[in-house]
Amino acid sequence: MLLLLSGCQNSTSKQKLYQQQLFSFGTLIDISILSNNEPLALKAFDTLSADFDLWHHDWHPWNPGPLSRTNQLLALQEPFSSAPSILPLIEQARQLSVKTDGLFNPAIGQLVRLWQFDQLENEQHTFTLPAARNIKAMLEASPTMGDIIIDGIQLHTNNPAVFLDFGAFAKGVALDRAMKKLKNLGIKNALINAGGDLKVAGKNNGRAWRIGVKSPQAAQPQLAAARQQLSVIAVIELHDGESLFTSGDYERFFEIDGTRYHHIIDPRTGYPAAQSHSVTVLAKDAGLADAASTALFIAGPEGWQKIARQLELAYVMLIAADNTVYLSQAMSERIQFLGDNKIVIKDIE
Ligand code: AMP
Ligand code: MG
Repeated sequence: MLLLLSGCQNSTSKQKLYQQQLFSFGTLIDISILSNNEPLALKAFDTLSADFDLWHHDWHPWNPGPLSRTNQLLALQEPFSSAPSILPLIEQARQLSVKTDGLFNPAIGQLVRLWQFDQLENEQHTFTLPAARNIKAMLEASPTMGDIIIDGIQLHTNNPAVFLDFGAFAKGVALDRAMKKLKNLGIKNALINAGGDLKVAGKNNGRAWRIGVKSPQAAQPQLAAARQQLSVIAVIELHDGESLFTSGDYERFFEIDGTRYHHIIDPRTGYPAAQSHSVTVLAKDAGLADAASTALFIAGPEGWQKIARQLELAYVMLIAADNTVYLSQAMSERIQFLGDNKIVIKDIE
């Protein structure tokens, strides 16, 4: 959860701020462009609006489109030609999955579906826990990205449990591509904020983009009022081309008998990962930051440094289940932390 802290500056060379909101990937996407060329900014909004619609359609795991078709064809266990919009995601996700020791595992789409998070927007739905035997069956089938055999543009798998869900990663890829589009259009200064996950280009009228990171506690409705003063738990400045992604247990969840079940599933247990409240990763590549925040969340306070090292990350903040804040050394030098949590600073190298 993040928000933009607006900064104002009196300068004659000040560029105008153009903002547009669109809905994609299940979230509001705020696009801010600084420019003195209004037609160009408007053209950029139109372009990105069409692009986000297309990516959302192409990369949805079960709504009809190229990814759901890929999932159907994988289940047949016969080689087929990959859709061009899917192959690069599979290739990048495979590498990231290996570097996270399989904690980021987009092949567990069937396991994620057992948890019915696709029903969160359906007010009529009554949540029940998945049957333990179904979770056990998925763990035994153990689908991984390595089960997808790539031969040129041909794909196939011998593991019928493979079902791709890029929910932990696609938004990052989309932000990388969207920012590249803006650059190609000649826009140098912009911020795209997709429900708190964001990427910036250039500067905010001569200054770094200043971002507030919201407290996971403040994001919980029942605690929000009591902890209003903590709603922004940290402030950080982002420089040209940097991305900031957060995975949290407060983002998508349901509760049964007072126990929270959230959407980040530990592929080793089949259950929501229990060691973290949130993980924020800063990196240039938004696809990397997105996959990494999910993987480090699952790794928790004991395991995050190893995975961060393998991903060559520098900037990590992990808020553990007991509210201890773990900062990488580099992150501690950049982030301004406002909460009164216990802070532990660790080297990644
Ligand atoms: P994020 O908010 O980026 O951490 O992504 C969470 C989403 O990724 C979930 O809603 C699922 O669709 C999917 N997901 C859950 N667990 C995993 C996992 N271990 N590896 C990859 N994707 C996952
Ligand atoms: Mg993610």
